[in-house]
Amino acid sequence: RAKETGRNGYSFYDANMNQDLQRKLALNVRLHQAITNDELDVHYQPIVDLKTGQIVAAEALMRWTDRELGFISPAEFIPLAEKNGLIHRLGDIVLQQACRQAAQWQALAPLAIAINFSSVQFRQCEQLQQRVLQVLAEVGLPPDRLEMEVTESIFIEQDTCLINTLNHLKSVGVQLSIDDFGTGYSALSYLQRFSFSKLKIDRSFIQGMTNNVADRSLVNAMLAMAKSLDLKVVAEGIEEQPQADYLNLLGCEYGQGYLFSRPLSAAEFTQLLQSQTLQIA
Ligand code: C2E
Ligand code: MG
Ligand code: MG
Ligand code: MG
Repeated sequence: RAKETGRNGYSFYDANMNQDLQRKLALNVRLHQAITNDELDVHYQPIVDLKTGQIVAAEALMRWTDRELGFISPAEFIPLAEKNGLIHRLGDIVLQQACRQAAQWQALAPLAIAINFSSVQFRQCEQLQQRVLQVLAEVGLPPDRLEMEVTESIFIEQDTCLINTLNHLKSVGVQLSIDDFGTGYSALSYLQRFSFSKLKIDRSFIQGMTNNVADRSLVNAMLAMAKSLDLKVVAEGIEEQPQADYLNLLGCEYGQGYLFSRPLSAAEFTQLLQSQTLQIA
């Protein structure tokens, strides 16, 4: 049977398309339910000072395990939520949960919370701006403890509302970071127009760095550029000690990756913070 359809290019293609579509439809339905039933969770990955090993921030990462479909990666459901509009509700859940958590953690350490924002969320830029300010006030988190992570792709369109929103949030103290830096295709001029605080070098460069000369020189170039623009740098996806050592040597301030810790549940992260506070005391 496979041979029969194989000879006919169309039906083979259709069968794959169909499977793909069915999974998307199922995920759409389940994601709606997951939101309604409060089944989504936020995990936190430490961002550390490469010199001291101190945790300086936590990145909030959404987690979803469906009863029937099992663990679903954000790399799969975030793009889906961007298409079906659920990203606005998802984004609001992460914003609330992560800011509330970060406000509690302030008693243990002066930690920042990094939250990912999709370009689609900025299409409702006024509501987004209002919600961010409202949530910060509600949970009592100082605005400078929030780092909004955006990718270069949000600057592809020159949207005045987006620009006003970013500038306004910045003016009240919210920090802006560029995520997955080096993987986008946009012009670099946006770097001058906004005062970003951090640049996160995508993990593809970090992982290639130790045995690939080209990746190493790109990382070098990104660090030099960041320095001249007065941006702090976070290296993403550090898995091995030599990578951390080398980045530290090059003057990269911060790191994130499995070498330090995988993303943790809120309870696990709290324990980690407590043990770190004890070490210093
Ligand atoms: P990202 O913002 O670049 O987040 C970093 C991703 O790298 C996370 O994947 C994290 O688990 C993974 N990672 C961290 N250290 C290592 C490492 O040492 N090695 C490897 N191989 N991976 C590492 P995750 O949690 O699967 O999230 C994937 C992407 O989904 C995120 O990339 C982000 O773009 C998006 N995402 C996750 N949560 C949210 C959210 O709440 N809102 C939005 N808009 N996007 C989100
Ligand atoms: Mg991120
Ligand atoms: Mg990233
Ligand atoms: Mg990403």
